[in-house]
Amino acid sequence: MVLAELGQRITQALGSLNSAAVVDEAVLDACLKEIATALLQADVNVRLVANLRNNVKKRVNMDQMASGLNKQKVIEKAVFDELVSMLDGGDPKKTELRKGKTNIVMFVGLQGAGKTTTCTKYAHLWKKKGFKPAMVCADTFRAGAFDQLKQNATKAQIPFYGSYTETDPAVIAQQGVERFKKEGRDLIIVDTSGRHKQEAALFEEMRQVAAAVNPQHVVFVMDGSIGQAAFDQAKAFHESVDVGQVIITKLDGHAKGGGALSAVAATKSPITFIGTGEHMHEFEGFEAQKFVGRLLG
Ligand code: GDP
Repeated sequence: MVLAELGQRITQALGSLNSAAVVDEAVLDACLKEIATALLQADVNVRLVANLRNNVKKRVNMDQMASGLNKQKVIEKAVFDELVSMLDGGDPKKTELRKGKTNIVMFVGLQGAGKTTTCTKYAHLWKKKGFKPAMVCADTFRAGAFDQLKQNATKAQIPFYGSYTETDPAVIAQQGVERFKKEGRDLIIVDTSGRHKQEAALFEEMRQVAAAVNPQHVVFVMDGSIGQAAFDQAKAFHESVDVGQVIITKLDGHAKGGGALSAVAATKSPITFIGTGEHMHEFEGFEAQKFVGRLLG
């Protein structure tokens, strides 16, 4: 089920309240059951779905609700707020860049998630806002990774650093960061390797790179179309390095959306941006209210 369909199903479930002669406990239960089914089919983590259901029920107390009150509106608002709060990863200030200081931002994620593409989009965006970004390729695992970063960085006119001979990603990361610090770059983006699967070696490598560059921010990049795996994947990265924000890619495609909700819960971190295409400008700031508003159309 794709994201748009999830929205439609929730909207339909809420709409069923309108056609009921009386909105009572049974009608509310049926509506919440339908919403829960839709969320589960969109790969939202099962615990999050149970929470949403319980929280809405707690807020919408049928017995105490004054007659004449538009129950449908109250329920709709409760569902909307619960979805927003599921996407709320805490204080967005924690993800801000410091003007006039060196900001080191490390990107992590599985291979193919869209890290290198996203690093470039991120660099490009902050460059337009007056920062002086640079990119470091600490991916020694995938052949061609440096060439890809080089190509992207050149296109975006952003200085880059990498090596064809050094095999230790932590060494490259450190050298790159040192070089760009000396050159007065105030946003140094470190792109790291991925693996196809969550492997111990990958997490060990992420710890080493993080220890070498001491980043202010660690960004977890996740493919929006992955399903139930999202929660565990995000949690595993969060446990090995100090993930403080999430960027969801490929929301232009067949993303189910549930992954986004689960990643926030697993990392307790906000989504800051979303990728909506392969090109540099296909990148948007993320706002939970707007996202849910759009979802529910
Ligand atoms: P990495 O292995 O994590 O560095 O992933 P890449 O940056 O190489 O991206 C993998 C593929 O996903 C490439 O073909 C990208 O063009 C594509 N990609 C990345 N972000 C997006 C996005 O937001 N939308 C779409 N449609 N494709 C994307």
